[in-house]
Amino acid sequence: MSRIPLLLGALLLLSAPASAGLMDLLESIEAPEIESEGLLPPLPAEPGRGKNWVGTQTHNSDLPILVLAGHADSQKIAGSGTPGKAVDLGGAAPMQKGITDELFWNLLTAKQIVAEGQRQGLNMRFYDPGIRTIRNVEDPRTNWSTGSRHAQQGGYALEIHYDAYAPHGIGPGIIPSVLYGFSVLDEALADEFGGYPYDYRGMLGAPRRGVSMLEIGHLEGALESGLRDPNRRQATLNRIAKRVVRALRLGLVDSPMGSTVLLKGAVNEPVLGSGEEIGQ
Ligand SMILES: [Zn+2]
Repeated sequence: MSRIPLLLGALLLLSAPASAGLMDLLESIEAPEIESEGLLPPLPAEPGRGKNWVGTQTHNSDLPILVLAGHADSQKIAGSGTPGKAVDLGGAAPMQKGITDELFWNLLTAKQIVAEGQRQGLNMRFYDPGIRTIRNVEDPRTNWSTGSRHAQQGGYALEIHYDAYAPHGIGPGIIPSVLYGFSVLDEALADEFGGYPYDYRGMLGAPRRGVSMLEIGHLEGALESGLRDPNRRQATLNRIAKRVVRALRLGLVDSPMGSTVLLKGAVNEPVLGSGEEIGQ
């Protein structure tokens, strides 16, 4: 890759206000080019500020869906995910030593989504690389490599994330896969969670490889405390999983009616505030 991202990275390192924001920013620096680059849509003249795409690719209801936990292979290196507000500002202990709270919740959430999806008859599976630090993103065991192979074979790959707490993160929304056209599944998830621009941060590494990213929400406030509270944890995870699965099922409806409803997909609802610096 060119030196420009490195330079930008250095600048961001100098100007980042807090560690959560820093990690968030570091994630954006890694978007290496891949062979299939030619299939990617061009970047818009102006960086998108809201949902600037419409998901029109339909799928059969037996579509294989692969769910990944964001940052599962990138701990202790750039792009390890947000520590969450409770840890970063509240002085709380991390949920598990050695991994960010985001990964801890990404893992539990992704597993819960797959359990719920399978219960409701979807063809879903969860993949965990198992190794928490894989420096080479092209290693076949990484989330991105595995998701990319899955997408290449015609499946749908979704990586679960929680966003950094405000003002560092943006909040909930789907960042759609861009490599094979925009999917009705991402349209459905955008209906439920909101939609990021497809060119968010100059197009992230996962979407470039055919993997969609779902930001559940800022890891702070009611969401974070609902997850951290042992008495409310399971209910919180269930609620999130049900929202994701409901959206996926809507997107998978084979009948022309189901698709028509979603194909109205609009370009609207900016997710990036006016003060938000994007395009790094
Ligand atoms: Zn993340």
